[in-house]
Amino acid sequence: MASLKVAFHTLGCKVNYYETEALKGAFRREGFELVDFQERADVYVINTCTVTHLADRKSRQAVRRAKKRNPAAIVAVTGCYPQVNPGELTSLPEVDIISGTGERLSLPEIVKRKLEGEDIAPLVTPYGQAAIFEDLPWVPEQERTRAFLKIQDGCNQFCSYCIVPLARGPVRSIPPGKGMEYLREMGRSGHKEVILTGIHLGLYGLDLEPPLSLASFLVDAVTVPGIERIRLSSIEPADFNEELIKVIKENEKICRHLHIPLQSGDDSVLKKMGRSYDTAFYTALLNRLREGLPDLAVSTDVIVGFPGEEKEQFLQSCNFVRESAFSRLHVFKFSPRRGTKAAEMIPQVAPEVKEQRSRMMIALGEELSRAFQEKFLGRELSVLFEKELEAGAGEDGSDLWMSRELRGEYRLSEGLTSNYLRVRALTAGNWRGKIGEVRIEKSFRGYLQGSLVRNTNVYDPAGHNNG
Ligand code: SF4
Repeated sequence: MASLKVAFHTLGCKVNYYETEALKGAFRREGFELVDFQERADVYVINTCTVTHLADRKSRQAVRRAKKRNPAAIVAVTGCYPQVNPGELTSLPEVDIISGTGERLSLPEIVKRKLEGEDIAPLVTPYGQAAIFEDLPWVPEQERTRAFLKIQDGCNQFCSYCIVPLARGPVRSIPPGKGMEYLREMGRSGHKEVILTGIHLGLYGLDLEPPLSLASFLVDAVTVPGIERIRLSSIEPADFNEELIKVIKENEKICRHLHIPLQSGDDSVLKKMGRSYDTAFYTALLNRLREGLPDLAVSTDVIVGFPGEEKEQFLQSCNFVRESAFSRLHVFKFSPRRGTKAAEMIPQVAPEVKEQRSRMMIALGEELSRAFQEKFLGRELSVLFEKELEAGAGEDGSDLWMSRELRGEYRLSEGLTSNYLRVRALTAGNWRGKIGEVRIEKSFRGYLQGSLVRNTNVYDPAGHNNG
């Protein structure tokens, strides 16, 4: 009998993407064939996000698209949206299975039962303090150069705008032995960069017996053979203690890029957001981190239009963001989430004002990103190449696209530096998964261009070193 086809669609954060990969592995083990979400499948799994209204809407749109593609298919909705708001999804006629953020590994079996005609009630259990870390095993099908590893889940912070603690439950962490086992597997299968993810990553280990810290996990992680870079997905400002800062500074394998959510550059807004720091604390942290790490990239999240945010507070936030010289901004318009304190706060900011502030903040972010990447013109940077690009689409003026005569011999390769700069260079042969030194020559919107000057690969288990 032909195997059943399953297709996935993922919204939201890196943790969700990691979990989708794990789910793909679980379905494959049960004999399902993976197909693209655009194709006709027997089962569609939508791993949702609920951080804003927009995320909810996109999740519902994906549900409708799936059912339209194959009206006879089983559509399973999983993740944060059903965990927080199962009722809203039960009312959608296109949805067949609803599962929250716990016990996801049972999904393939549940789908099979549904295919056999069984009625399946929503699989959503509200979180209690006793929640345990669900081990969604890392699967080696992920792209070969970089791999995500989820080591932590949940958050106990309850910032006034954030629905995540309800969607994800309390802080819980992968046992260190298990985490190291996955890291060693990643190193063996040729992944040079690992991105450690979590919902509140800086609190890794707090729930373990005895308690551990992210710093102690990193001390072991940097010793894993084959892994040249360890990237941290996001760390809250208050979680940088001296131990963590020291480990980051002393280990070059830890990427020189930190994502430190700011949310607002105005102290009164930060207070209403329930954040545990003020701008003076944040600036002192940036100074401390940048001491001795001049190339460090710091990116951040900013919310505009928080309830009661006056024009002056927004402008103050812009000033602070500018002074902090972030390498990249992720800008969010405040979106009231039922069940959070901020949803009830008054006055709410008018949608058109939020829109205008968002556009201003995004423009500021682009300016800062440009300024940050231009600092590296003329420098040599280590690039981990992750893909080849189609040569020939030279709409942005890069001269790499004009050298048609070179195309047979050379490839146009793109990769990332340790401090998260996107770099393109011509390479002889396939450089995917390899690290090379690139002299940076030009800056374009969103990436740098340069010439490969050296191959610095230090570990190539598959022996693909043909650069
Ligand atoms: S720290 Fe605050 S913003 Fe981050 S997940 Fe927890 S509650 Fe949400």
